[in-house]
Amino acid sequence: MRMKIIFVSLCFAILIHLSAGNKTESSVYPAWVALDYKSNPNNILISIYKKRNTTPHIPSPVDMALESFPLIDGHNDLAFLLYSKLKNNITSFNFNVNLKYKPGWEKSHTDIPRLRQGRVGGQFWSAFVFCESQYKDAVAKTLEQIDVIKRLIDKNSEHLQFAATSDGILDAFKNGKIASLIGIEGGHSIDSRLGVLRMYYELGVRYLTLTHSCDVPWATSSTKEDDDLIAVGRKLTTKVGLTEFGKKIILEMNRLGMMVDLSHVSKLVMNDALTTSVAPVIFSHSSAYCLFKHDRNVHDDILRKLKQNRGIIMITFYPGYVGGGEYGDLGIVVAHINHVVDVIGTDNIGLGGDFDGIPKTLIGLEDVSKYPDLLEALFESNPERWTQRNIEKLIGRNLVRVFREVEKVKKRLSFAEPLQDVISKDDFNLVKRNDIWVCRTSYEKKTYDRLIEKMNKTHK
Ligand SMILES: [Zn+2]
Repeated sequence: MRMKIIFVSLCFAILIHLSAGNKTESSVYPAWVALDYKSNPNNILISIYKKRNTTPHIPSPVDMALESFPLIDGHNDLAFLLYSKLKNNITSFNFNVNLKYKPGWEKSHTDIPRLRQGRVGGQFWSAFVFCESQYKDAVAKTLEQIDVIKRLIDKNSEHLQFAATSDGILDAFKNGKIASLIGIEGGHSIDSRLGVLRMYYELGVRYLTLTHSCDVPWATSSTKEDDDLIAVGRKLTTKVGLTEFGKKIILEMNRLGMMVDLSHVSKLVMNDALTTSVAPVIFSHSSAYCLFKHDRNVHDDILRKLKQNRGIIMITFYPGYVGGGEYGDLGIVVAHINHVVDVIGTDNIGLGGDFDGIPKTLIGLEDVSKYPDLLEALFESNPERWTQRNIEKLIGRNLVRVFREVEKVKKRLSFAEPLQDVISKDDFNLVKRNDIWVCRTSYEKKTYDRLIEKMNKTHK
C-alpha cells in the first residue's frame, strides 16, 4: 500500500516538475505555487492543497512526509494519567477506543484511534513522578511508571511496538506500528545514584529530563525561586547549574547511550550540560523564549549552542508555555517552530506535544489526532521552507539522527568503565530540607559500624 502511494506520489512529482520546470529541491511543491501564494494567499492552487482530503490523488508534502517517515513525539504523559486515574490498574482499560467519549476521560488527549488519526509513528512515553516523592519513594514510583508503560505496550501490541534504539523506531514504522519509547521526566527519579540511572537504561529508558519543577541536589530547575514548587528543592536556582556530580551524570548518560533532556532545567544547567555532554542533547518539550517569556522556554543564545551540539528542541504545545491567551490556536506553535528555524535552521527541531500532561490545549491542537493539521498550517505558513524533506526532519528525521549519534557515542565510549562516584555531601548540604537524611542510609563506615553494634546488642 505504502509503495503504491509512493509510486503515485512520484508520478505526481514528475508531472509537476514537467509542468513547472522550476521547483524547490526535494519537494513536489513547485516554486511558482510558492510565489503565487506570497502575492495572493487565496490562490486557487493553495485551496487545492487545503482540500487534499477530498482530492486524494494530489498528495501534499505533508502527506508525503508522514507517509515516508515516522512522526515521533518527544513527550506524552498518558502514563501519569493511568497512575492518577487508575492507580496503574489497566485490567479493564481499553486504549483502543476514543477516550474522549468515555465518562471521566473526556479531557484526555491520547488513545490509539486518535494516535492513528494523528499519524503518530513514534512516542516517548513519560515515566513521571511528582517532585513530592523526592527523598522518599521516587525510585519505586518511577519503576511503577516504567512498568505500566510496558504493560500498556504489551496489551496493545497490535498497535504499539516497544523501541529502545533508533533502528527500533524505523522497524516499528515498517511494521505499521507506533514505536513506543520511554523517557523519565525529572532527575529526582534517580535519587542521585548512578547505579539507579544504569538500571533505568537496562529497562529501556532512553532519556532523562535532568529536573522537573524542583531542583535536585546536583541540578537546578527552571522554576523561579518564589514559586511554591521550589519548596521541595533548594533555593539556589540563580546561583548553581550542574554540580560536579551533575556533570558525572551527564557523562554516564553519554557512556550509556541515554539522551540528556534539558526541558525544565535552569538556563545555567542548559549551559553546563551543553558544554559537558559529548553527545547531542534534546529538549523533549520546550518552545522559544523569544516569542513567549516563560522560564520553561529556550533562549536564542542557547538555541545557537544547541545547534553546535547537534541536538534538537522538540517544540511543545502547552498554551501556558507558548502564549496566545485564552483563544490561542495552533498558529502560535507554527510561529514557535518558524522562529527556531529562523535562528538555527531545520536540522535541530522536532515536536514534543506534552499531551495528557497539560491542563489546557490550543484551539486546533486539542489532542494527538491534530498533528497533520499543525503540519498543514506550517506548510501554508511558508511553502518554500516546508518542503517534504524539511517536514520529515521536523517530524522525525532529526530525532532519529540525534538518537543515532547518541548511540555512536555509546559505541565510542564502550571501552570506558561505568562511573562509580557517589554524590558529595556538599551537594546535599545545599538542599534546604531537614528530612533528606531520614530515608537515606549513609555509605559511611561508622554508620554501619554503629548499626551492626546496635544489631548485636538487640540480638543478645
Ligand atoms: Zn514537562
